[in-house]
Amino acid sequence: MNGKPKIIIIGAGISGHTVSLNLIRKLKRKAEIIVISPNGNYQWVPSNIWIGTGHMKAKQVYFPLKPVYDKLGIDFHQAKVISIHPEGDTGENNPYVTAEYVAGEKSGQNTKIYYDFLVNATGPKLNFEAVPGLGPDAGNTVSICTYGHATHAYEELSKVIEKMKKGQRQKIVIGLGHGGATCQGAALEYTLNVASLIKKQGLEDMADIRYITNEMFIGDLGMGGAYVKNSGYIAHTRNIVSSLFYEYGVKWYTQSSVYKVESGKIYYETYQGEALTMDYDFAMLIPPFSGVGITGVGPNGENYTDKLFKPNKLMIVDANYESAKKPYHEWSGEDWPKKLQNPTYPNIFAVGIAFAPPHSISKPHTTPGGRPLTPAPPRTGMPSAVMAHATALNLAEWIKTGNPTFKHKASMAEIASVCVVSIGYGLRGVAGSMSVFPTIPDFKKYPDFGRDVRYTIGEVGTAGHWFKWLMHYVFLWKAKAKPFWWMIPD
Ligand SMILES: Cc1cc2nc3c(=O)[nH]c(=O)nc-3n(C[C@H](O)[C@H](O)[C@H](O)COP(=O)(O)OP(=O)(O)OC[C@H]3O[C@@H](n4cnc5c(N)ncnc54)[C@H](O)[C@@H]3O)c2cc1C
Repeated sequence: MNGKPKIIIIGAGISGHTVSLNLIRKLKRKAEIIVISPNGNYQWVPSNIWIGTGHMKAKQVYFPLKPVYDKLGIDFHQAKVISIHPEGDTGENNPYVTAEYVAGEKSGQNTKIYYDFLVNATGPKLNFEAVPGLGPDAGNTVSICTYGHATHAYEELSKVIEKMKKGQRQKIVIGLGHGGATCQGAALEYTLNVASLIKKQGLEDMADIRYITNEMFIGDLGMGGAYVKNSGYIAHTRNIVSSLFYEYGVKWYTQSSVYKVESGKIYYETYQGEALTMDYDFAMLIPPFSGVGITGVGPNGENYTDKLFKPNKLMIVDANYESAKKPYHEWSGEDWPKKLQNPTYPNIFAVGIAFAPPHSISKPHTTPGGRPLTPAPPRTGMPSAVMAHATALNLAEWIKTGNPTFKHKASMAEIASVCVVSIGYGLRGVAGSMSVFPTIPDFKKYPDFGRDVRYTIGEVGTAGHWFKWLMHYVFLWKAKAKPFWWMIPD
């Protein structure tokens, strides 16, 4: 390393931004922190639910990153990373990335930026193309995955609500748009918020609300379900979610692998092999995720992509990928990455949705037609931020001491996840709240329930809702690096 070490963070979402803020706080002027991201704004994705129901405007969930990074001394490039050159070019041996500027005077130009350490935090590519007819751009369905998508979703929802007011019964379908899609929590939360909005307007008799999902049972949530403790009782998420759906008049269709969408019609195959269709007037379906498609390039221009990425384009880290070949009951928390470090290039890390998990958390299934019924493992905001924070601390210590000690735990098998499914908006909403520990179940350690029920707790009530509402303001405060931001937990 000549001079100050250079750390590039690719992506400025929940995980990338957490890495950058914590690195600059810990290293101050001891390193050069460079963030490359195509979106000039930070967005607090969890509040997209409330944009999609008209309770918030997009501008309430995002803010421009450049002023924050300028204040902190972080070098920001509004650009899209195209390739990683982990060994640099022949004779030079100086690793770098190439990126294309997407805004400002340099828009359309390519750049080459050198690094000593690299953190990949690109999140997912929203892979609508995997299902013909899916998505808001080239397809027939809406999405709430970005603030732009959620704004459009509310415009479309308003149209069906207007029709209901005129006495026309409407079919609303929300759920997972592919047998391998994840983010069940967001789909579930949107379903209940839409149902609550319709109920508030006294239109529930005019709406047929359906939840369609690749989960084998309701309440699986992509994490094999969970037993949660509340007031001394232990309930399964299956019971909690189904009782909320009964209360809000939502019908659910599990074991459904969506494979095509036409205007007004969803095609899906069930676990039993039935080829079915579902009609809709409004459909919000979460797409499958993949990596964003950055390539790896060797010193002589060789294709190194497979040294860095799995075929699903997510980054290879220190997970036990061989474990995927074992039967489901032999999978364990030990399979999950502890350092989030690429095994070939120890100066490269991946956090949040960008790293390739070793396998699903839910038991994998396929339909008789060979379609997946396997929710991908959710890497929600909290574990993404915890992994990112731990990685930043590990890197900062490495740079300060010259030794990689990896003291900070970044494995999803050793951290908790909190999930708050809000229903409604404002002071009068409710929420289903749950905290699970560990995120990845471990039946060897916790043979009864797979998780530690002392810390796997949940309840339905107003407190969780207020917490989620407060979280919106508190986490935006933190992301803006306002005073004492670092005291706010991940
Ligand atoms: C509607 C919705 C509601 C949700 N609600 C919750 C919730 O209540 N609680 C919770 O914990 N989680 C929730 N989640 C999940 C949470 O939003 C994600 O887990 C989290 O955003 C993942 O963070 P990330 O940093 O990995 O990815 P992202 O937040 O997607 O960030 C990725 C970043 O990488 C950038 N990028 C992409 N491609 C490139 C490239 N080629 N070069 C450079 N940069 C690139 C993007 O612009 C972005 O800045 C929700 C998700 C959705 C969709």
